[in-house]
Amino acid sequence: VDHYLSKIASASHLNAFVEVYADEARQIAAAVDQKIADGTAGRLAGLVLGLKDVLSHKDHHLQAGSRILQSYTAPYTATAVQRLIDADAIIIGRQNCDEFAMGSSNENSSFGPVLNAADHSRVAGGSSGGSAVAVQAGLCHASLGSDTGGSVRQPAAFCGVVGVKPSYGRVSRYGLIAYASSFDCIGPITKSVADAALILEIMAGPDDYDSTVSRKEVPSYSSSPKWTEKAKIGYIAETIDNESISSDIRQHTLDVLNRLRADGHEVTPVKMPLLDFLLPTYYILTTAEASSNLSRFDGVRYGFRSSESKDLESLYKKTRTEAFGEEVRRRILLGTFVLSANYYDAYYTKAQRVRRLVREETNRFFEQFDFLISPVTPTTAFKIGEKTEDPIQMYLADIFTVQANVVGNPAISIPAGTDENGMPVGIQIMAPYFEEDKMLAFADYIS
Ligand code: GLN
Repeated sequence: VDHYLSKIASASHLNAFVEVYADEARQIAAAVDQKIADGTAGRLAGLVLGLKDVLSHKDHHLQAGSRILQSYTAPYTATAVQRLIDADAIIIGRQNCDEFAMGSSNENSSFGPVLNAADHSRVAGGSSGGSAVAVQAGLCHASLGSDTGGSVRQPAAFCGVVGVKPSYGRVSRYGLIAYASSFDCIGPITKSVADAALILEIMAGPDDYDSTVSRKEVPSYSSSPKWTEKAKIGYIAETIDNESISSDIRQHTLDVLNRLRADGHEVTPVKMPLLDFLLPTYYILTTAEASSNLSRFDGVRYGFRSSESKDLESLYKKTRTEAFGEEVRRRILLGTFVLSANYYDAYYTKAQRVRRLVREETNRFFEQFDFLISPVTPTTAFKIGEKTEDPIQMYLADIFTVQANVVGNPAISIPAGTDENGMPVGIQIMAPYFEEDKMLAFADYIS
């Protein structure tokens, strides 16, 4: 803990942590030491963990990177976090993120942007940017993030670390501030696949507080046998023969596929005609869900309240206008629009239908293949400020990651080298629903 506290202090310019629990972490470490001496320590004894600022941790501040939750304190602990604490993980602090987990660069935080430790002029990725940089820069062993459309995998790729999005329903969302409830997943960010497997295994499984969690038994991901089979791998040809994807990313993806082919795996290009509809579907459905989830922040129940209001109506309006950032306001407006009576069928209902078609297409794919391999992002980490003026360009950064959330399948991002500027490149492996064990074993094999 002392080691990480001094690392965090010397890396404050990265802006990865928004709060550090120095005294508390030292006290917990001393208690864990005692348990180790007594032989009663849990499986994560000594693991120093950071939490994205969207995960409830009882009696600690929680803000989702937003002004609207200023001075809000979590009244209970998220199930996933509690399970890690029960296994003797030590929580060292709360990590910077895009406001309400909306973003792809961590530039939408009321705490300011997080800097990529590999090049301080570049973004960390988002929305779990602080969590990824904290692992990249060695400020903690591991972090917990949330992934609604890539927010664990994309920053992991930009920072050269491992990020896992589990199947929807594998890990309880109880205590996670909701962005889009039918997409949100809590996932680990780590240095190795083995660390991610252990953390996931401990967090996962049924929870009486979240009815969307599956009652399926959680396999022991951390003790799965090494991958030895010949895998059937599909990749989408357009993701490689595509001018809008950086040549470094294309080359690294091809290198991985060629290496797998040379090792005797079956590697086949496939077509996914619905690929072009993924981003619109994702952004229609998530903004709709967000506009509903965020309606609770009204200046009455939580955190910030405008001092300018004259009556209830102006209290709502002024609080929400003053305290939500630009991107959050944009998404609330988009979501409200697609849910409005005149447009509901044209946008929301249609997007739900497309979601079903994408699910069917993905299921058909997994009837033939073990894994779908793709880049994680079309480019490596871009410059801070480069895309802030153009939300559509920013949304395109999620092109490869949203599919897993639209359909609910698990996916992992693992490091696959660096580009010509020394910036990390990631590779994504998507697996069939609830086959995290296979996915993790295979990711470990190609790491
Ligand atoms: N970048 C995506 C978005 O802004 C993903 C966010 C996330 O996964 N939380 O919606």
